[in-house]
Amino acid sequence: MTLTDIAEIKNQIILYGKKLGEKNMSPATSGNISVRCGDNVLITGSGTCLSDLSPEEIVLIDKDANLIEGAIKPSSEKKLHTAIYAIRPDINAIIHCHAPYTSAFAVCRLPLSKPIISENVFYFGEIPVAPYALTGTEKLVENTVKFFAKHTAVLLANHGIILGAKDIKNAYYLMETAETYAQIYLNSMLLGGAKELNKKEIEEIYALRNAAGK
Ligand code: 13P
Ligand code: ZN
Repeated sequence: MTLTDIAEIKNQIILYGKKLGEKNMSPATSGNISVRCGDNVLITGSGTCLSDLSPEEIVLIDKDANLIEGAIKPSSEKKLHTAIYAIRPDINAIIHCHAPYTSAFAVCRLPLSKPIISENVFYFGEIPVAPYALTGTEKLVENTVKFFAKHTAVLLANHGIILGAKDIKNAYYLMETAETYAQIYLNSMLLGGAKELNKKEIEEIYALRNAAGK
């Protein structure tokens, strides 16, 4: 990994952090973003604002979450990020944020599980809720990481959402998709409840997903 590669990845984190802000998905200093860099990880510093990052606010940590390079403390959720990378070689970028609609489901401890929009069935199947644990703790890591064996996005009870993808661009798109799913799900409840796709319709979507290698 050259210095130019690291500078480019930092630019991408800054770009997609801004986009999260533009879509109201990262209030104030909530959330964190990371990208895998060879054996190491670039991650946002603790207490930084995702929509207003500078390169100095993104630091390099090793696979055990020790600081390698940077003048500020890495995100308090660093071990959550490194633990996900450890079990999911296909995930190279992670976004955790407190986006309002997905977080509303997280605080109600309601999984985003209803098959109501084909796009969400395709990308997520279900977004489960990991049991509550205090932010930044080993317990939060333990409660959450096991869901990544089968899922790419997980709600954190009374907290927010964390998801991973093959790169930062796709992680950002997944975040927009999840947040929109939660917004539509909530609106559909206000309108009396969505009509769910049936088993055959869901299986057809899974077949499409398998064919696309997702
Ligand atoms: P950091 O600023 O330490 O990354 O924490 C933000 C957060 O959302 C903790 O869950
Ligand atoms: Zn958080």
